[in-house]
Formats: sequence, structure tokens, C-alpha cells
Amino acid sequence: MAAGLLWLPPLAAAVQANTSPYRRPKLKITDVRTAEVRGHGYQLHVRIYTDQGIVGHGEGTDAVQGGVPLVNGFRRFLVGQDPLNVDSLFERIRTAGIFAGAQAGQYVSALTAVEIALWDLAGKAVGLPVYQLLGGKMRDRVRIYCDSQTNSPDDPTAKQKIQQITDLGFTAVKIDIDDARDPMRWDPVNWTASNAEIDNMMRKIAFMRESLPKRTDLAVDMHGRYDMTTGKRVAKEAEPFKLLFLEEPVPAENVDAMRDVRESTTTPICCGENLFLRHGFRELLEKRAADIIMPDIQKCGGLLESRKIADMAHTYYVPVAPHCVVSPIGTMASCHVCAAIPNFLVLEWHWIQRLELWRNFVKEGDIIQKGFVTLPERPGLGVEMNEEAARKAQVPGTPWFEPTKERA
Ligand code: MG
Repeated sequence: MAAGLLWLPPLAAAVQANTSPYRRPKLKITDVRTAEVRGHGYQLHVRIYTDQGIVGHGEGTDAVQGGVPLVNGFRRFLVGQDPLNVDSLFERIRTAGIFAGAQAGQYVSALTAVEIALWDLAGKAVGLPVYQLLGGKMRDRVRIYCDSQTNSPDDPTAKQKIQQITDLGFTAVKIDIDDARDPMRWDPVNWTASNAEIDNMMRKIAFMRESLPKRTDLAVDMHGRYDMTTGKRVAKEAEPFKLLFLEEPVPAENVDAMRDVRESTTTPICCGENLFLRHGFRELLEKRAADIIMPDIQKCGGLLESRKIADMAHTYYVPVAPHCVVSPIGTMASCHVCAAIPNFLVLEWHWIQRLELWRNFVKEGDIIQKGFVTLPERPGLGVEMNEEAARKAQVPGTPWFEPTKERA
């Protein structure tokens, strides 16, 4: 709260200047800086600076290794521009990169971090929480599921971990059942699961189902590794457990295969953490290949793009359960989208061994309370990085929001 007050007076002055009928003087982007962090996975943090002291902060993930040169390349579309034209800046950078990979992967993930920073900045500039700029909120709090990193009756600490998750108040839990080191796996490359492997998978699901309260939902992830035979068999055998969803039982790049699995079972199939932009989700939805989609909001194109993907899914009556493995900054950014879309189901939070890193990463402390995130009323994303805590996870040898040196 005290930290928030420190930047409020200059912010208020900027808002005054920017909300006059003619918006004079306009905000102008002056710099774009980056930092790289290793939390659960690899994250790229982007800060966008303006001539009026307002700074926006965004986060991208997974496909962002090597994203810093890309963000530096985006500078020519950003510096000198009005940051409030978020979608226009996004579209210009996206279409400028069609020969540089702007359909997916690193390019879109790096652009995502920029887009989220622009929304944070826009919210701060007009004095509104980001969800307000995305159409307003449908709900005051966002339901979070815990990706538990616990699943085995053979793990002596499992019961204790499950109790901890239950005590934290989560109403939904996810487990992984793909296991490259299963001793009953007979080939190091091929992913056709043996009968014994499938029995092991069902044993894990049964153990978790019995260990969790009956009203807690259980989701299961197969990480898109297995072949069609295995995907169909697991989905079928899991039917009695009434899963919240089965995630990527087959690789996601063949939409027809995903649809075949979906049509073979009553287990809801969830897919999409490695799809990008609306274009990546179009075929999945048109072919009715997933019951639930799971865009990664820090990767697939950002906040407005995720809203557009969710809206497209809504026309097919498909709910959205976003993938999320980022810091509280990115997680809160996801929450603003989740609050604004009608078809939100549940948002991921991945268990992290360094719980202290999660709890101290932003000045506001742990944003998840009793399994939910309450949307802040503060301008922008509503969370500010705690530099001291966050830097403990800095990728060694990488810059920490250092001013960009202009090339001669
Ligand atoms: Mg997954």
C-alpha cells in the first residue's frame, strides 16, 4: 500500500494530462528494457518506459529464451509511439514479422511480454485496472487450480503434500501421469504405453481421487507425448474418475488426432498450451477437437489476444482453462483476462519448490488466497515487482532492466 502511494502523485498528474478531451500532451514511449528470470521455467520480463514517468511491466514465458534480441528489434515500432494504442502496436509488430516467425514460438512469446507491459502501462495511465480495459469484469475473483507435482502412492511425503494443497484452499488439482522413467516402458523413444504403464497411470489417478476431498476437481496432464492408441485407452480408462479434464493425451500439432481421441471418450479433453494467436486455435475449435482450451496467456499473444481466443471459443460453447507457469506478475495479468471473459473455467498455478520466491516476488505478497485471486482495484495489473526478491531468480549474466544503448 505504502509503495503504491509513492507513485500515485506523479501518476495522478499524468492521468490529468492524459484524460483531457484532447489528451495533450500525449504519452510517448521512451525505452523498452528486459530482465530474464528462472522460476518454474524461463521468463522474460519487459518494462516499457514513457516520457511521463509511467512504466508498464509485462512477462512472457517458455518460448522466450533468446527473446531479448527480438524485443530490442521491436523497439523501432515502440519508441516515440503512444502506448495507449495497444492493439495497433501489437498488430504492427506482428505483421512486420511474418518472415521472421511471427506466427508462433519465440517471436509471439516475446511480443506477448511487450503487449502485457503495454496494458499495464495503459491501465496506469488512465487510472483503471486492466480488466476494465478488456471489457470489465464478469467475476471479482479467479479460481486457481494447483498443478501439484504429487501423484504417487509410493511417495511417502505425498499425503503431507496433498494436505498442504488442501489447507491452501485449492478447489482443483492437476497431476502429471506421463512418466518417461516408468520401468514398464520398453522403448526409450516410442510413446506407446504398455498395459503396465497404463495401470500405473490409473493407480496415480485413483490415489489422488481418493486422497482429495470429493468436491475437489481433478485434472490430469499427459504432456502431449503419447500415440493415438495410448491416448484413447487412457481417456477411456479414466472415465470413471470424472476428471475435470485430460490434457493433451496426444501431441497437439495434429488436430485431427486430438479430435479422434475426443470423439472416442466422455473424458473432457483439454488442449492448447503450445498454440499461438487466434490462428492457432481456429482449427482446434472448427474441428471440435477439444472440450476445453488452455491458451498460455504469457505466450499466445497476450491479454487482448487471449480475450479474442476466448471469445472465439465461446461461440463453440468451449470453456477456457489457461495454462500458467509464470511469476505473480504474469499470473495477475492472466487473472485480468480470466475476470473479463464469460467462459472462464479455472486458471493454473504451478507448485514451486521455492515457495518463498513466489510469495515475495511482488510487493503485494501472495496473490492467491484460499485457492482464488481477488482482482485488485489498483491501476494497471495491480502488482509491482519486489526487486530484491525477484533478482534472486535472475538468470546469471543477463541484464536487469538496463537502459538500452542506442546503436550509432
Ligand atoms: Mg500441460
